[in-house]
Amino acid sequence: MRTPAEIEAMRPAGKFVAEVLTALAAASDVGVNLLELDALAHRMIRERGAESCYIDYHPSFGAMPFGKVLCTSVNDAALHGLPFDYELQDGDLVSLDFAASVDGWVADSALSLVVGTPRQEDLDLIELVETALKAGIAAAVAGNKMGDVSAAIGAVARSAGLGINTDFGGHGVGHTMHGDPHVPNDGRAGRGYPLKPGLVFAIEPWFMLGTDEIYTDPDGWTLRSVDGSRAAHVEHTIAITKSGPIVLTARD
Ligand code: MG
Repeated sequence: MRTPAEIEAMRPAGKFVAEVLTALAAASDVGVNLLELDALAHRMIRERGAESCYIDYHPSFGAMPFGKVLCTSVNDAALHGLPFDYELQDGDLVSLDFAASVDGWVADSALSLVVGTPRQEDLDLIELVETALKAGIAAAVAGNKMGDVSAAIGAVARSAGLGINTDFGGHGVGHTMHGDPHVPNDGRAGRGYPLKPGLVFAIEPWFMLGTDEIYTDPDGWTLRSVDGSRAAHVEHTIAITKSGPIVLTARD
């Protein structure tokens, strides 16, 4: 649990991550290379004196250290998209996931967008994950259980007839990017980890239009839908307080 003073100390990290994602969204366009987006995020990290949570990241499921500061998941890529030499094409659905540490505190956030001419089904999918994120945040109140957050997210996916992959979900955030508790994207209301003031965690719904199964790209990181269907992913880092959830990574 974080004290109110610690939660205040986490605000600059949240604000910085929000600023980087805002800049990346503005820079995303047809013809822009994923490596340029990574370079932009890297430049902002250096200018801010922040630290990347990704560049040296090497968990058990990663083939090698990530080596970039940003995840760029395009179209059938759902999560952990490793930026590569690719120019965005008209209608691409892009999810940008960014985490950084400022003054020793981490914030983690993601957004999805379409460059160029959108397909309606992609806009609908993005709206769906955003609705799920809002529903999850609304359930993140003291006295509830983590299952209430999970159930709120899962209900949104099911309302659209989508399956839910629970292999990856939200996570506790603090001095490091991934801690307890786990925040599954589906679950049973009233069950699980008790939510108390001072708990800080990331909520990150990600849905795919077809299958709920993923595979790892030969790059060793990027997770793609097995049927090639498109995916969207959004995320905020939030803090539970006595007066409700604070969205630390809120964008203006
Ligand atoms: Mg993230």
